[in-house]
Amino acid sequence: MEIKAIRGFNDILPDEIGKWQFVEKTAREVFEGFGFSEIRIPIIERTELFSRGIGEATDIVEKEMYTFTDKSGNSLTLRPEATASMARAYLEHQLHTFDPVAKLYCIGPMFRYERPQKGRYRQFYQIDAEVFGVDNPMVDAEVIVMLIHFLERVGLEKLELQINSLGCRKCRPRYREELKSFLTKKSFQLCEDCQRRLETNPLRIFDCKVETCQKAIADAPKVLDFIDDECQNHFGKVKEYLEAAGLTYILNPRMVRGLDYYTRTAFEVVSYQLGSQNAVTGGGRYDDLFKDIGGLDVPGIGFAIGMERLISLLPKDKEFVQYPHLFIAALGGETNREAYRLVNQLHLEGIRAELDYEGKSLKSQMRRADKLKARYVLILGEEELKKGRAVLRNMKTKSQEEIPMKDLLDTLKAKLQQFSVKINRMGDLASEG
Ligand SMILES: [Zn+2]
Ligand SMILES: [Zn+2]
Repeated sequence: MEIKAIRGFNDILPDEIGKWQFVEKTAREVFEGFGFSEIRIPIIERTELFSRGIGEATDIVEKEMYTFTDKSGNSLTLRPEATASMARAYLEHQLHTFDPVAKLYCIGPMFRYERPQKGRYRQFYQIDAEVFGVDNPMVDAEVIVMLIHFLERVGLEKLELQINSLGCRKCRPRYREELKSFLTKKSFQLCEDCQRRLETNPLRIFDCKVETCQKAIADAPKVLDFIDDECQNHFGKVKEYLEAAGLTYILNPRMVRGLDYYTRTAFEVVSYQLGSQNAVTGGGRYDDLFKDIGGLDVPGIGFAIGMERLISLLPKDKEFVQYPHLFIAALGGETNREAYRLVNQLHLEGIRAELDYEGKSLKSQMRRADKLKARYVLILGEEELKKGRAVLRNMKTKSQEEIPMKDLLDTLKAKLQQFSVKINRMGDLASEG
């Protein structure tokens, strides 16, 4: 019986991987330029980290967690997001004793037990960036500037930054009550889930996709009208700093973000490229998360980018696949040994070279070179080799030239330099040459 991947789990194959590597490489470059350091955290944690950190009355904790009991009877959960684990690591290793400010990022898989559908997987990938230890609105703006810069660097266009403030635990309850009484009058319009949310977490009704629910909240009271002076002041400063950095934004009073731990600044980036509206990423401030997971009173702000979505929005004209630079076609006898010697030498020089392992005919070797989209083919014939020469064929122009073997490396490097410049400009992929 053939064993297949579990439903909702997918493979990322070599013809796709160039995009992933490009996005990850760009994230590392941009984030490290902004003073962030990578942190790697386990993919499994105690379930209570997430139920306390994310909040019991959220879809993630209620129905989407990948939770199981291990052989010792502990309830463990595959991480559904990274922020809670990063906060746990910060506390556990007392990173604040080194520097009260921690700027961290993390790239990796997350797990949610959702109904698998096209483009949505139970194992999906996120890029997370978080700043712990600063409540100054300057850092809110800094994080948003970094996010926009990253998205532009990977080639996303027509981006719109939306911001809102969700208030804090002192002032939000008043809004929550107001929203609840407003929606209670319309509860007959709400779906079954939202009827329940009305009692547990009415703010989450904003995220419901059901049309009647959307109608019910269309003219709901706005959180910005209810937040206290401190929160207003903080939000005013965030806007000032964004403007000072030259970013434009729009206020979106309906953006409330469903996770319990969010406070004050919330933001989302929407892309309007390809004529449709796509939420690319979002994030916000969470000044209560640390207390919720039983730690110090440490403020935090950050964002998570879903990589599958981001990759689907990458420019279509960029080339992300790496093709062999050279295919060596050997024609038997001594030439096979020479091909082997050559391929090893080229690999050490970082030149992607491929050869035939099966003693196939020249025709069949050329077919394979063509299929692999090799840039050049080096044809090693016995007669030419005796004279210290070989034929180099440009697979694109189909032109051939005979070159001295002793100049091969230099000739190849010179020719590939051109390629690598081109590749660099297009996708920042290659660094050879
Ligand atoms: Zn407040
Ligand atoms: Zn609903």
